Amino acid sequence: MLRSPIKHCRNCGAAVVYRVPDDGDTRERAVCPACDTIHYENPLNVVGTVPHWGDRVLLCKRNIEPRWGKWTLPAGFMELGESTAEGAARETVEEAGAHIAMEDLFTVLSVPRVGQVHLFYRARLLSDHFAPGHETIEAQLFTESEIPWDEIAFRTVRETLLCYFADRRAGRFEVHSLVIT
Ligand SMILES: [Zn+2]
Repeated sequence: MLRSPIKHCRNCGAAVVYRVPDDGDTRERAVCPACDTIHYENPLNVVGTVPHWGDRVLLCKRNIEPRWGKWTLPAGFMELGESTAEGAARETVEEAGAHIAMEDLFTVLSVPRVGQVHLFYRARLLSDHFAPGHETIEAQLFTESEIPWDEIAFRTVRETLLCYFADRRAGRFEVHSLVIT
């Protein structure tokens, strides 16, 4: 599901109306009838990592909804003022308490159904000791055959893991651009 509709103007607090602005735009926007502010809504970025240690990858068991108790790669919404790589590194520290060296961008996944773009970087773990934050029940390393495929929280994480192990077998990592429908 996409975000819930905007109800009030961020500038003056008046109730907004959804209509096509008179400036040549072709989409309906939340327009304020009092101060004419147009509220544009655009996709959000989710940034994360594929932390690896030898032939194993680090997954986090979610302690938050949605998908409580399911496994995910460390990832979260990008914050204002940070780069995609900085956000991915921050989420990895916050969720897994992992020490990492950031590597290259690995997957770019558009999820138009929910208005999001997910970006995952490969990251080399510098230690196999983890200190999960409050959003994580436990952080654990998995080989490809140990991955709990039926318990993965999100399609973007599943696709990224599939790409990772396929590239690892091929001995060459590329950037993968995917659309999750
Ligand atoms: Zn207004």
